[in-house]
Amino acid sequence: LTRSEEKPSVGAIKNARHPFYEHCEEALGRIKQQGRYRTFTPLARQAERFPLYEEYVANMPEGREVIVWSTNDYLGMGVVPEVQDAAIAAIREHGAGAGGTRNIAGTSPLHNQLEAELAALHRKEAGLLFISGYVSNQASLQTILMSMPGWICFSDRLNHASMIAGIKGARGSQTVIFEHNDLQDLEAKLAAAPVDAPKLIAFESVYSMDGDMSDIGAICALARKYNALTYLDEVHAVGLYGQEGGGVSQRDGVADQVDIIEGTLAKGFGVHGGYITASAEIVDFLRSTASGFIFTTALPPSVVGAALASVRKVRAESWRRESLFERVHTMRQRLRAAGVPFTMTPSHIVPIPIGDAERCKRICRRLLVEFGHYATPINYPTVPEGTERLRLTPGPFHTDEMMDDMVRALSLLLREEGIIPEHVAHKAE
Ligand code: PMP
Repeated sequence: LTRSEEKPSVGAIKNARHPFYEHCEEALGRIKQQGRYRTFTPLARQAERFPLYEEYVANMPEGREVIVWSTNDYLGMGVVPEVQDAAIAAIREHGAGAGGTRNIAGTSPLHNQLEAELAALHRKEAGLLFISGYVSNQASLQTILMSMPGWICFSDRLNHASMIAGIKGARGSQTVIFEHNDLQDLEAKLAAAPVDAPKLIAFESVYSMDGDMSDIGAICALARKYNALTYLDEVHAVGLYGQEGGGVSQRDGVADQVDIIEGTLAKGFGVHGGYITASAEIVDFLRSTASGFIFTTALPPSVVGAALASVRKVRAESWRRESLFERVHTMRQRLRAAGVPFTMTPSHIVPIPIGDAERCKRICRRLLVEFGHYATPINYPTVPEGTERLRLTPGPFHTDEMMDDMVRALSLLLREEGIIPEHVAHKAE
């Protein structure tokens, strides 16, 4: 072979299609074939009529009213008038954006107040805001695990993708995955690690897809025994659990045993943004070293103002939490009475097992098109194949009538799909 045959010349690749386009085409074909191609239903939330949304279908100028059962705004805080007003007031007062990173003129008094409020909520010395819960996990874990040589991170097998991103991105550190919520496995792995290696245990309080919870106190006891730092994601728990909505660690009276509590402002608090709370040293360290905190524009004042109003309200108004759990209880009662199978969880999450991706998608589609109820199908890779499910998150805003209507629709569809055997009679309650 001549040299020119071995290697394409620059002339040959000039203006050629870049191989990445080919890659996208192939990958998308595969994803579609596997039923993993993502489409989003355009849903416009109706703030005054939450949880009613309008669904927009192509070529239809008007939206169609649907009831949403899959919102992560668990308490409906995003539509509370005082929270909306706080956002509007902050825009009027400070403008639409932060105008810079936290360091470059992007820190408003609202940012400082919100960080202090979050620290107080979790009884920690300090708090630090990030642009999302995802970034708070990714940036904090990566920065901590690259701070000293020899870190070993013990990570629950079902940890969220944002924690995994931070853990995997920490070059030079070692990761040990322990079986989900398995204290024996965790202890065996802690005991097998070098005694003097700096250790961190990363885990969640409420695992959002299964709705199960960790034993925070027991994990912290192991952490003390093996001198490990504890990093707890309370994203699906803040606002909902504990006397003031400080999460499961507050409910269980163990928040002081957790070194770093991470949360979101986007779910129980209904707004946007992520945060950690911890000792002043840890927060100070991350504030000065975490790339994902330093090199990005600060959260806009409207978001921070709304979040501050929301956190204050949620802390003070425990009736919102009580109402959520009453609604979840009622929904379970009605599902049970109608013979609709669901997984009983210790949390507010109500999974309805389907076990097949295509069926799961079809049921959700039919629920929406034929009955006007929206629930997201939860499929692989979010959950393992064969465990596909609907994930309902009933909230204070779902009325009895909405529940009856949804349960009727589910009961009918699940019978038609063979998930509920035909002979199971309706049990009226
Ligand atoms: N942690 C967990 C467990 C989550 O489920 C999520 C997102 N759904 C996040 C972190 C990220 O939070 P955010 O949506 O605020 O980025």
